[in-house]
Amino acid sequence: MLPLDLLDLDSLLTDEELQIRAVVRRLVDDKVRPHVAGWYETGHVPVRELARDFGALGLLGMHLEGYGCAGSSAVAYGLACLELEAADSGVRSLVSVQGSLAMFAIWKYGSEEQKQRWLPGMATGELIGCFGLTEPDHGSDPANMSTRARRDGDGWVLHGGKMWITNAPVADVAVIWARTDEGVRGFAVPMDTPGVTAKEITGKLSLRASATGEIVLDEVRLPADAILPAAAGLKAPLSCLTEARYGIVWGALGAARDCLHTAIEYAGTRTQFGKPIAAFQLTQAKLADMALELQKGFLLALHLGRTADRGGLRPEMVSAGKLNNVREAIAIARQCRTILGANGVSGEYPVLRHANNLESVLTYEGTSEIHQLVLGQRLTGIAAFA
Ligand code: FAD
Repeated sequence: MLPLDLLDLDSLLTDEELQIRAVVRRLVDDKVRPHVAGWYETGHVPVRELARDFGALGLLGMHLEGYGCAGSSAVAYGLACLELEAADSGVRSLVSVQGSLAMFAIWKYGSEEQKQRWLPGMATGELIGCFGLTEPDHGSDPANMSTRARRDGDGWVLHGGKMWITNAPVADVAVIWARTDEGVRGFAVPMDTPGVTAKEITGKLSLRASATGEIVLDEVRLPADAILPAAAGLKAPLSCLTEARYGIVWGALGAARDCLHTAIEYAGTRTQFGKPIAAFQLTQAKLADMALELQKGFLLALHLGRTADRGGLRPEMVSAGKLNNVREAIAIARQCRTILGANGVSGEYPVLRHANNLESVLTYEGTSEIHQLVLGQRLTGIAAFA
């Protein structure tokens, strides 16, 4: 590994954290890196196989306690996200959606029966979960969602549709958010329930190594115990998003690190005008600036992680982290692409794949603009969303 850690930030990590990182890095090198460019090209990723590998290592619901989850620290979970996304944002998305969205929603808001039913299988990767909040007509503004749930005797009837749902085409259970007479509520919906269909969204030019789907909910009858009893109001799904965004703060750095690593190696071997392009001052200026942003992003992520482990993390802090680290990661990926010249657009190198993936990462879990508005509200006391 080239000396990307200019500031010796690894010295801020404990031995245990370094060990966890090394184990995840090995798994990624073994099971993901050799295949991921092919998955990206074909748009097919072996989600179940990967989920079992990740589950065996304790990466699914890694930061949750009990029900077969590893109960690790926020920093350890962040480091795992970074290593996963150094291979591909789609692979990290699989883990984020499973652990921080679907499992977290059930873990935090589910009944004991729901937790026992779903969480142990999801922790091992035997069961796949997804999280349906976004709809075709409501993305940044989920408060206006169209999906409804109405009471039907003891049970519920769910009607509507969800769009852009990661893991949906392969999922066993979906956490679906719907409007009811009592406000927004969440439901744990087995995907084989009559009336539920999930169709893969094809033709994505980003996050191709990730299964994304549209879920149609056609008069879906659910028993009374499908509702997540403790999730009342929009703040419940938003709290799940804060969990997942935290992983993105770290993950995006992984994609950026892989790009920078690739660019430095390439610049050292590619010769133009009789010398390696790494010997040109303009190339070195680019590399220096990118390494600085990467290290600043790491400090930010680590600060958020340590704050989370002390129990003091606030949603706007995570907004700041996601806004900065994804924005800088995409800038790094694009700059690295220039260093690789024409080879930068080839799938032989991971750089444009990362850059393309980061376009989705910039948009999902709250767009950059929405996170700017979150920070703007915090700074001014004025909500400028609507
Ligand atoms: P819109 O909300 O229509 O926004 C379009 C543009 O308008 C953006 O630039 C936005 O910032 C801007 N905008 C909107 N409102 C404002 C405002 N008030 N002020 C200023 N600018 C504004 N969703 C899930 O629920 N579950 C998933 O698993 C999931 N996985 C995804 C996977 C992928 C690959 C992608 C691409 C998306 C996924 N999403 C998922 C959906 C994602 O969360 C939404 O795309 C995102 O919230 C933005 O919604 P939108 O696409 O409808 O854009």
